[in-house]
Amino acid sequence: MPFTPYAADDYVDFNYVEQFCRTLADEHPEWVELEVMGESRRGRPLLLLTLSAKETGPDGSERGGRPALWLDAGTHASEWTGVSAVLFTVSRWMERLLAGDEMLQGWFATHEVVIMPCISPDGVQAMFDGSPFIRSSLRPPREGEVRSGLDPCDIDGDGAVRMMRWKHPAGTFVEDPEWAPFMRPRTLDDEPEDAYFLCDEGEFINWDGVKWTSAPREFGIDLNRNFPGEWKPFSMFGMDAGNFPLSEPESRAVVDAFAAHPHLGCALTMHTYTGCILTQPYRKDTPLTKGDIDLMEQLAKDVVEGTDYKVFKVYPDFMYDPDQAIVGVWADTISSVFGVPGYTVELWDPLGHADLDVDKPIDFLMKPEPAKLQQLLAKFAEDEQNIEPWRTHEHPQLGQVEIGGIEYLRTIRNPPAACLSDECMKAFKMAERARRALPEVRAQVEVTELGPETHKVRLILENLGFLPTSGLEHGRKVGSSPSVSTRLDLGDGMTTHDSSEQKLDHLDGWGNLRTSAGKNPVYAGLPGRGHRQFAEWTVHGSGEVEIVWQAGRGGRGVERVELG
Ligand SMILES: [Zn+2]
Repeated sequence: MPFTPYAADDYVDFNYVEQFCRTLADEHPEWVELEVMGESRRGRPLLLLTLSAKETGPDGSERGGRPALWLDAGTHASEWTGVSAVLFTVSRWMERLLAGDEMLQGWFATHEVVIMPCISPDGVQAMFDGSPFIRSSLRPPREGEVRSGLDPCDIDGDGAVRMMRWKHPAGTFVEDPEWAPFMRPRTLDDEPEDAYFLCDEGEFINWDGVKWTSAPREFGIDLNRNFPGEWKPFSMFGMDAGNFPLSEPESRAVVDAFAAHPHLGCALTMHTYTGCILTQPYRKDTPLTKGDIDLMEQLAKDVVEGTDYKVFKVYPDFMYDPDQAIVGVWADTISSVFGVPGYTVELWDPLGHADLDVDKPIDFLMKPEPAKLQQLLAKFAEDEQNIEPWRTHEHPQLGQVEIGGIEYLRTIRNPPAACLSDECMKAFKMAERARRALPEVRAQVEVTELGPETHKVRLILENLGFLPTSGLEHGRKVGSSPSVSTRLDLGDGMTTHDSSEQKLDHLDGWGNLRTSAGKNPVYAGLPGRGHRQFAEWTVHGSGEVEIVWQAGRGGRGVERVELG
């Protein structure tokens, strides 16, 4: 079956994702490599694509050794837009590569993009098949756990878990024609007989027959709290971080894949929703330097250019609870453990879609202003596809209830399918811009004749990219970035008194200067470290010398020169 690019006309399940990846790799091995990094809890493959030319590059580089951009999606089971965005991005690149776009072919001959399209295949597939809300994966409840309370499930057999409501004077919602078909939060002015309880469609399990409470989630793990970056036990909204960092096969596979690619220079991890990029710092006592934080913010601002996305610092702009730092996050792990600029991309802005301009979207999430909430819901109510009208149902425990409500997964959590390709195009633009920020290392060899059979050989490494070869300075500091070094290999009969292996300092990117004091054109100047480093040897004898170099996250190469 030939590879068919994905146009993002509608959402896709994991079965599609797997087929897409396998077909792509089978049909186009010259550009694509597919690896399976492990298995999910339910035995689904954790897929990893590498997009890069199989052939040796014009710079002598090989697939696996080139500077690389990381993309992933599907950490959260309901955030299908991310998975779509990644497949869409791969499709656009493949179309251009296969159409003979020489610029892009040249780029992929000397760089790579490493992609994990669906980190939690079990969760994504389950939600696609109509399961109740799952945060991430299908990690079972802890052994011996007894869950009791309302458990979301499809009680009327229509294949979906919707909202459920019933009248009761202790309820928190009321009907309001101005909010129809949604429910309005109750105020003291409302009559008790107009009040409703409103919750997920479901049944009480292990029920005492009295209390109306929610059962703890069956699948409570949040994989995006299970990573090593500042991991701590964590619980919020009934979700947890796992018992220890990387307790889950899915998060372990992600970290293994990232660690196996030492030349990753930048990473985008796709989520929904908000329409923004989240950047460092994640907490007040961040381990990152101000220089790293500024560099990441500048890059994020450059990356969102041409989309309507915003840039937020997690601390202090995107905190669910200002007193509780968010721990164990993958993007933070990329930066604070691997020392690479790693960003969470929150695709899709339902507020913007409803013409709401909200300065701090996180506040809207935590404490929505009723008038703005009404405007948001009214926007989605314009299309009747987005709403399931309330219909009565005889509940086995509660008596008569009504079931219906908003199609949450295709309005707020993800865009309506008609808006999906636009959103994917924004993600593609961001990936396009992020790839152009990678370190770009060029090597040059200079030979000076010092006397008969004696030459000075000098290797100059130069970084033309935005990012430094260390990724972040933090990567150099904690030792997670590969070093910059070079080794001279001499032919038979040739000698040198200089050390054949030499370690060099990292090479700045132009982004470093862009975020230093010298960024102001009035006070512009040159940096302290700079974008060039060199090594030199005095070599006696004649013949071929080979200089092997590696430039941190900027990749590696070999130069050859004939002496004599
Ligand atoms: Zn998410």
